[in-house]
Amino acid sequence: MNIAILSGDGIGPEIVAEAVRVLDVLDLRFDTESALVGGAAYAALGHPLPEATLKLAQGADAVLFGAVGDWKYDTLERSLRPEQAILGLRKHLGLFANFRPAICHAQLTHASSLKPELVAGLDILIVRELTGDIYFGRPRGRRDAPDGEFTGHPEAFDTMRYTRPEIERIAHVAFQAARKRAAAGGHQGAGARVTSVDKANVLETFQFWRDVVTEVHAQYPDVALDHLYVDNAAMQLVKAPKAFDVIVTGNMFGDILSDEAAMLTGSIGMLPSASLNAQNRGLYEPSHGSAPDIAGKNIANPLATILSLAMMLRYSLNQPEAALRVEAAVTRVLESGLRTADIWSEGTQRVGTREMGSAVVAAVKAA
Ligand code: NAD
Repeated sequence: MNIAILSGDGIGPEIVAEAVRVLDVLDLRFDTESALVGGAAYAALGHPLPEATLKLAQGADAVLFGAVGDWKYDTLERSLRPEQAILGLRKHLGLFANFRPAICHAQLTHASSLKPELVAGLDILIVRELTGDIYFGRPRGRRDAPDGEFTGHPEAFDTMRYTRPEIERIAHVAFQAARKRAAAGGHQGAGARVTSVDKANVLETFQFWRDVVTEVHAQYPDVALDHLYVDNAAMQLVKAPKAFDVIVTGNMFGDILSDEAAMLTGSIGMLPSASLNAQNRGLYEPSHGSAPDIAGKNIANPLATILSLAMMLRYSLNQPEAALRVEAAVTRVLESGLRTADIWSEGTQRVGTREMGSAVVAAVKAA
């Protein structure tokens, strides 16, 4: 099996290096190959997603991705900005389902800005549709003299849209994920439940979304379904996050809600993600960005990337035992009291990116 390693920008190279060290000690036979992506690729080759990088990713069984983006590229025209690389990869690899678990590790409940009792034992999964919605809708653009109330003033516009097959396939993924979690004893034993998040009261796109999700649900009588408007979902996520099991939503609402859910757990530096296509090939990356503010300082938390590697082993490389080994190693390292700066608290030992990676490597070896 082939793994493409795309480290990207900012803290990307530092955190991916630690995940690769963990992969190396698992003694599994994978071929790995690295390529430039994002701002690093733009600087060297003039494009954030060069042809060779895309080819490598397309030929791989899985992609381990760091992060892309740096403020210094903010003035580039949109098509050349580092973030276009991730949008391009999602599109070309057909990655339509984004899994973002929000799990609160027992040792880190104090790191959440919510009361510990609200987050202790939190284990929810956000399934975000990745290839449709307003991020890819056409037409988009600007015009100088639109008709209407503000005639003569320039305006910008984007188009929100979803097709029936796009909604159907993400709904199936969410119902099946809820079923698997329930079978594994998830959601505090309360049974499988999917909450579909939309804005059906205002947007036609999301009234359609609600109708199609409801239709697909008829095939999953063992899974409960409820619908929430996105504004209410944002409130409920901080009021009673443990009430959720699986949340399924569109690209833009999922973008926002998954970051909100990330903060429930205390550190965005802890959260992995997987983006899968119909063949279970996928791209695995931490939920956070390239954190240019802390790049190159050996202080970034590599655990989200290491846990993304675990998701890769489970979903694309068919190595569930190795995935559990990596996850158990992370738990043991947290139990031993080691913390990077973002999750540090009184009484724990602060370590850098490299030291945290070494501790996980040692725990994997010892298992
Ligand atoms: P960010 O996630 O990079 O950082 C937000 C905050 O969290 C920062 O204070 C950062 O220091 C901290 N942080 C993030 N990851 C951390 C880690 N592993 N350990 C410790 N602290 C961590 O988001 P941002 O600052 O809004 O964006 C920075 C750049 O990243 C932008 O160019 C943005 O476009 C890009 N970005 C890329 C992706 C991606 O590659 N998929 C995702 C989000 C943002």
